[in-house]
Amino acid sequence: MDQAPFHYQPKCSVTGCERPGLFKVAAPWTYGNIRELKNYGLCCDLHRESLFNRAKVQAESTRLSEGETVGPVGLYQMAPGVRDAGLTRLE
Ligand SMILES: [Zn+2]
Repeated sequence: MDQAPFHYQPKCSVTGCERPGLFKVAAPWTYGNIRELKNYGLCCDLHRESLFNRAKVQAESTRLSEGETVGPVGLYQMAPGVRDAGLTRLE
């Protein structure tokens, strides 16, 4: 069975918001040699500030294990087919 190319449009993480998630709220996370983005959700252009502030509160209350570091929370521009490591961090 042929399937159409996968065009998944992620949605804003704010409850009840049906707008597309244009930005990822995330913080650089390391654990030993592992480097990833710790994901706090996606937001549309209307909710970037509220989700960003919520993520900062979440990040501050996260307890880290030994060897684990989390950098400052930032907004990353979502791009189709781009993995976390290739996302552009916005100022
Ligand atoms: Zn939204």
